[in-house]
Amino acid sequence: MRTVNLYNTLTKKTEEFTPNVEGKVNMYTCGPTVYHFAHIGNLRSYIMEDVLEKYLRYAGYDVKRVMNITDVGHLASDADSGEDKMLTGAKREHKTVMEIAEFYRKAFFEDCDKLNIKTPDVIEPATNCIPEFIHMIEKLIADEYAYVAGGNVYFDTSKLEEYYVLSNQNEEELMVGVRDDVEEDTNKRSKTDFVLWFTKSKFDDQELKWDSPWGVGYPGWHIECSCISMKHLGEYLDIHCGGVDNIFPHHTNEIAQSEAYIGHKWCNYWFHVQHLNDKRGKMSKSAGGFLTVSALEEEGYSPLVYRMFCLQSHYRKPLVFSYEVLDNVKTAYEKLQKKVSSLAEEGEVEQAVLEKYQDRFAEAMGSDMNTSQAITVLYDALKEDTNDATKRSIVVDFEQVLSLGLFDKPADGSDDVDEEFTAWIEGKIEERKAAKKEKDFAKADAIRQELLDKGVEVKDTREGTVWNLL
Ligand code: AMP
Ligand code: ZN
Repeated sequence: MRTVNLYNTLTKKTEEFTPNVEGKVNMYTCGPTVYHFAHIGNLRSYIMEDVLEKYLRYAGYDVKRVMNITDVGHLASDADSGEDKMLTGAKREHKTVMEIAEFYRKAFFEDCDKLNIKTPDVIEPATNCIPEFIHMIEKLIADEYAYVAGGNVYFDTSKLEEYYVLSNQNEEELMVGVRDDVEEDTNKRSKTDFVLWFTKSKFDDQELKWDSPWGVGYPGWHIECSCISMKHLGEYLDIHCGGVDNIFPHHTNEIAQSEAYIGHKWCNYWFHVQHLNDKRGKMSKSAGGFLTVSALEEEGYSPLVYRMFCLQSHYRKPLVFSYEVLDNVKTAYEKLQKKVSSLAEEGEVEQAVLEKYQDRFAEAMGSDMNTSQAITVLYDALKEDTNDATKRSIVVDFEQVLSLGLFDKPADGSDDVDEEFTAWIEGKIEERKAAKKEKDFAKADAIRQELLDKGVEVKDTREGTVWNLL
């Protein structure tokens, strides 16, 4: 097992990661609210969480990862007021909520696929778990952690010894942003209380409602994640992930209700990804004008160029999106991909070299997921004085985590070259072969140079001569 050090939002320290059960990791990820396409900001979080999951596996852990799909209960404000985002999506597109959920859930996983994000072991839509939510709320009421007011059920944050366990910022500061333009809910005993179950809303009513002991209604957003996590991962969670905007109130509320329910500590490590920003600030679905994977593709960028863009900066630093930087990454990515795909397969892997690079990779990744350092290690390996087979096996090894598609066919590789040019290259390669056969090495070298001047690199392998564009 490799050592993994991670920054933990709960302790505000970088710590050695130790799961509850040796060798096994229970991991939970807040899934998308499926009322619109995921933007590339959301996907930054999912890319970095994917890298975390894959690195934990690489380090030797057996990981079980669960993700919810928020298809009910996430209101316009994270502080439980405004209209349900799903209803906003349905109205925008003149469809039913379930049609919207189905469409955007599919679109989300298609984007994930394009970004080489592994599908979590369990995916659970909130609308599948209504009886479990009701059961949890009933227990919270019975234990006096929750109360009914104005038809809704609220969690009583005053019952906790400490509510702000994830953040030491002051209350006013935290509430800015989640309360924008939204009236205060006078049913709440204190303003940090949050809704577990709605039956009454000032805003347009839900399409989807269920019977409950408190009347026909629907669950709050926060209860979904606690309940779905416990349903599949039990009462002891090792690591919980999300974007930093989830720290408050969403994750703070998840901890409050989960620990009130189970009566002990719930999750040991909290992994939060900083935001992707554009010129206006945090990229967000509600602000509109956001960028999607398809929009990048339309502009000619492979989704994996965006993955590399994300991996080149640290997940805990805000990242500003710009096409200028993306262009630089695209150039670097295409060069890297060509270099990797031209590595010959023959030869014996030099184990000592492979292990040296595995250690360097693990040191980078084990230092709070230093992905940009890990990419530097990859470049160093490609420059190492060793054979292609060793370099190839190093890249194969790192790709288990980086998943940059470095062995995929280069987007603008030899296949895209026009036929006339391909015929010319192949003619030159034949000419060079003949020159070598006649031991006219000066001619063979001159042909190699002629090809190089045209941006074509040739390599002699056991299977014959291969070429690629530089
Ligand atoms: P949502 O679909 O709004 O529930 O968000 C899905 C995930 O994306 C959550 O983990 C959010 O914290 C995260 N997220 C939202 N906006 C951004 C952003 N601009 N940059 C990075 N992550 C984000
Ligand atoms: Zn969540």
